[in-house]
Amino acid sequence: MYSSSRAETAAIVNRGYDINPRAIQGREYECPNNCGRKYKYRQSMMLHYKRECGKEPQFECEYCPKRFAHKGSLRNHVGLVHKVIC
Ligand SMILES: [Zn+2]
Ligand SMILES: [Zn+2]
Repeated sequence: MYSSSRAETAAIVNRGYDINPRAIQGREYECPNNCGRKYKYRQSMMLHYKRECGKEPQFECEYCPKRFAHKGSLRNHVGLVHKVIC
């Protein structure tokens, strides 16, 4: 029989990306990559961390050389700058 605390520790290690306890107490979740981005929700932070942190923005504008990390940002840009609604 092993203690439940040991099992919990193992679970955290298995997930591999648990943020530090200081961040849980604060209001914001900081990117574990130390890129300086902070998020109100842990999920948003994880999305950023997994999808965009340290990566090149993957959505390329078809009208100019600009690139965006989010599809929504690209759509905004295309609508605002190129006056194209997609
Ligand atoms: Zn980051
Ligand atoms: Zn553009």
